[in-house]
Amino acid sequence: MDKIDVVIVGAGLAGLSCAWVLSGHGLQVIVVERGDFAGSKNVTGGRLYLKPLKNMAADMLDGAPFERKVVRERWSLLGSSNSLSIDHTSDRFRNDDHSCTVLRARLDRWLSERLMAKGVFVIPKYRVDDLLWEKGAVAGIRAGAEEIPAHVVVAADGVLSFMARKAGLMPALSPKACAVGMKEVLELPEDKINDRFNVDTGEGVAHLFLGDVTKGIFGGGFLYTNKDTLSLGVVAGIGAMMGRTPTMDASTLLETFKERYEMQRLLEGAKIVEYSAHVIPEAGYGGIGRLCANGILLAGDAAGLALNMGVTVRGMEFAIASGIAAAEAIVEAKASGDLSEKGLFRYQERLKETFVLKDLEGSKNMPGYLDNDSFFSYYPETFPGLVEKVMWFDEHPKGPLGKTLWKELRSSGMLSMKRLLELYRIRNI
Ligand SMILES: Cc1cc2nc3c(=O)[nH]c(=O)nc-3n(C[C@H](O)[C@H](O)[C@H](O)COP(=O)(O)OP(=O)(O)OC[C@H]3O[C@@H](n4cnc5c(N)ncnc54)[C@H](O)[C@@H]3O)c2cc1C
Repeated sequence: MDKIDVVIVGAGLAGLSCAWVLSGHGLQVIVVERGDFAGSKNVTGGRLYLKPLKNMAADMLDGAPFERKVVRERWSLLGSSNSLSIDHTSDRFRNDDHSCTVLRARLDRWLSERLMAKGVFVIPKYRVDDLLWEKGAVAGIRAGAEEIPAHVVVAADGVLSFMARKAGLMPALSPKACAVGMKEVLELPEDKINDRFNVDTGEGVAHLFLGDVTKGIFGGGFLYTNKDTLSLGVVAGIGAMMGRTPTMDASTLLETFKERYEMQRLLEGAKIVEYSAHVIPEAGYGGIGRLCANGILLAGDAAGLALNMGVTVRGMEFAIASGIAAAEAIVEAKASGDLSEKGLFRYQERLKETFVLKDLEGSKNMPGYLDNDSFFSYYPETFPGLVEKVMWFDEHPKGPLGKTLWKELRSSGMLSMKRLLELYRIRNI
């Protein structure tokens, strides 16, 4: 078989976006995907930020099956027996297409069908299990007895990318550098979602939870509203779970989260229609290695391009933008006749010019800052507890509110040097 221009492994957002741009430049592209269809294996929370992609994705996402535009932002600190929430809305979020909720089985499949309509082969049920090599350069892929020789391979095969490792571009993932997410999609009629979450049709909520949802370890919970479903899940650090004695069982976290008082009203009558679990890269900028070698580039999660910012998770727009940047770099390298690492290195430079590496670098201290159990145990217990004490009125005389608050702040340790230093360190993240 003659070499084709590019073979892309993985029909997730990174792979499909890469194929979209390459096909626009007339290159021969094949996308191979181990799942039954694009998106069938893909898991996200999922909130997609659209603004960063404004000048990149051009027409690729026109008419995409987004679920709801996020207009309400909620964060909840869950103590063991109480909680405290912030609920943010703004005209700015309502009037602009800032971010939306998505279901990957729908979005990825839609994008792959668009690609196939453009003449790109997206081959499902095709699990790649090796790379082909030629004079020290990657020269295609192998799946069982079949081979697809190619001038360039794009590894868009997600966080556990075995190709990135085979090509010697990524080290094995350490437990500390990743988390596991368990997610359910729950069916609920559209009008019920609107009423329960206090939004209009087409508008949605992004709700994140910290604290008791992970029993005090690194991680959190999420709840996103889709058109007529809810995406509910828990993410927990693998290293943190292993560090517990006895080791924590992640599968029970989602069940106990759903049993909480705060969740029961929101989930009442909702039926589970999908369950999934997936790994998330958590190392941030520090986990990114070389992004290309002779004949191969890494995009999306395969390259470790994801960012947990504590109050939100970003991975999908990084996957899309890196897929696009990879395609543009391949087009340039092909035009210059140099598909070696040197020719493909323009990819890394392009990513540096975009929000992808700028935002990841800007938040490079975030993983270190979040590596602190206080955020998942002390604060989620203390803040709701403070409000509970200030707002509790009983048969005993209540002193001045300010005095009560001050006393509780002191006795909770909130004014200690340790806490003040944690606050001070915020300026570095
Ligand atoms: C629980 C959870 C919540 C998240 N929440 C958010 C969020 O709210 N917002 C956000 O932006 N990001 C979120 N993320 C991160 C985001 O989902 C990822 O960063 C994003 O999906 C990465 O896209 P990708 O295309 O790089 O990889 P993937 O979507 O993982 O796609 C990789 C593809 O490669 C295929 N593949 C793998 N191996 C092979 C093989 N050997 N042969 C053939 N095909 C193969 C897979 O089947 C898959 O289709 C979340 C992730 C998780 C797990």
